[in-house]
Amino acid sequence: MYEGTKDVTKEFVPQIKGYGEGKFIIGHEIVGTVEEIGSEVKNPTYKVGSRVIIVTSIGCRKNGCRACKEGNYNMCKNNRPIGYYYPGGFAEYILIQDAAVKQGAIIPVPENSTVSDEHLAMVEPLSCVINGQNYLNIKEGEYVTVVGAGPIGLMHSLLAKTKGAKVILAEYSSARLTTAKEFGFDHYIATKDTDFVQAVLDLTHKEGTDVGIVACSVNKVAEDLLITMAMKGRLSFFAGFPKENSILKLDGNI
Ligand SMILES: [Zn+2]
Repeated sequence: MYEGTKDVTKEFVPQIKGYGEGKFIIGHEIVGTVEEIGSEVKNPTYKVGSRVIIVTSIGCRKNGCRACKEGNYNMCKNNRPIGYYYPGGFAEYILIQDAAVKQGAIIPVPENSTVSDEHLAMVEPLSCVINGQNYLNIKEGEYVTVVGAGPIGLMHSLLAKTKGAKVILAEYSSARLTTAKEFGFDHYIATKDTDFVQAVLDLTHKEGTDVGIVACSVNKVAEDLLITMAMKGRLSFFAGFPKENSILKLDGNI
C-alpha cells in the first residue's frame, strides 16, 4: 500500500471519531494489490493480484438521501470516510468494508498501466482538484491565481497550465516557494514580504485575476483574493477554514 503524505500531528489522531477511536489507522489516498476477495462479492471488476485504488468517501446509500441517490457520496451527510471513520491506508493490509465494496469504491488500475504506486496514491487529491476546476471554466490566456503552494496548490497550478492559463502562485513559506519555482509557473508572489493584493493587480495590469483558488486554510487570504477578482471572475474556496474561524468578511458591493 502507498499513502499520500500528510501533515499528521499527535493532536489530530485522538480527535477522530468512529471506529477504533484513539488507536486509529489514518490514510485516505490509497493504492494497493488485492490479496483476497470475499465470497459474497458479486461480479468484481478486479481479481486477486489486481492493482486497485480506493474511493474513500463512503455514503449511507439510504433511500431518501439525495447525495447518495445522485452518486455524490462525498456529500452524503452521513458519509463515513475510510481513513476518518473506517481504518485507513497507512497499513500493509486494509479490509475494504462491505459498504465500500457495494458502493463500487474499489477501482482497478488498467493492467498495462505503468503509473507508479506513488503517483496512483495522488488520484484522490487530483480528482478533487479536477472536479473543483470543472466549475471554474478556465480559458486559455486567463489569469489564474492560486494561493498556497502545497501539493493541492501545485496540482491546481499544473492543471490550470494545461488549459493555457497564466498562473500566479502565491505562498507564505520560503521553502515551499523555492520548491514551487521548479515547476516554472508564470509568476510567484512571496506573501511573507509582499502586499498580495497590490502584487496581483500589478501582474494583471490592474484588471485583477480571472480565477482565484484558495489552497490554504487562512481566511485573510480568501478575503484578499476576493478583492483582486477581475470582471466576471470566478473564485474557488477549495481549502477548508478552521471551524472556530471560518467567517469571511465580504464586501457586498464588490
Ligand atoms: Zn447518503
